[in-house]
Amino acid sequence: MMITRTAMTAEHRPSHHPETGALVDYAAGTTSQAAGVMIASHLALCPVCRGEVARLEALGGAMLEELPPTPLASADIDALLARLDKLDAERPSFAPERQPVAASIVIPRPLRDYLGDVDVGGDLTALPWRKLGGGVDEIEIRQAAGHGEHLRLLRIKAGSTVPRHTHDGNEMVMVLAGGFTDASGHYLRGDVGVSDTRVHHTPVADSDTNCVCLSYTDGPLRFTGPVGWILNRFIRF
Ligand SMILES: [Zn+2]
Repeated sequence: MMITRTAMTAEHRPSHHPETGALVDYAAGTTSQAAGVMIASHLALCPVCRGEVARLEALGGAMLEELPPTPLASADIDALLARLDKLDAERPSFAPERQPVAASIVIPRPLRDYLGDVDVGGDLTALPWRKLGGGVDEIEIRQAAGHGEHLRLLRIKAGSTVPRHTHDGNEMVMVLAGGFTDASGHYLRGDVGVSDTRVHHTPVADSDTNCVCLSYTDGPLRFTGPVGWILNRFIRF
């Protein structure tokens, strides 16, 4: 069955965005690879943040031009140019979605490039999900993750609650399909929830459809609710 992009996504315009600091890091090319995939995936779906990153990049360029000229040996210039080229090549780029099909309807282009052997030509259910229990499945995306970082696709069964948890580090979660609600609001496609060690949250997936998210963490998750201690023993986030 052909599913049109309009039917799948209903063109939701994200209302929850990454923190400005994360966009600044991305624009400056100082973001980690895995966080960059998260930001680039959000940019593919969010015209507001695309505009913001373009503004920041222009600002960065203007500031570079304002700097007083420093005499650089040509070897230094070559090294600098090589470094800039490398930064550009490493930074995941973003492009707005055009004519996606099947699972690739749901998975933004910048993320698809990091899924390696995962076949995004089929539908979402055909992806190699690993059961975490409690109505949550995951696909770990190792290609992009640096030390201590985790980038993963999460699938939360319709109506399920992700056990109450907190973080040793920072977490960004972006909805790719379906939606979830936590104390901070309702999240739909393209929306990014940001939390850190201070947040104990309990996201609940919308009841009508499974919720698929992209999750980035730079520290382990710790479950804190009544079933949390059991999950902590079995799930090594
Ligand atoms: Zn945004």
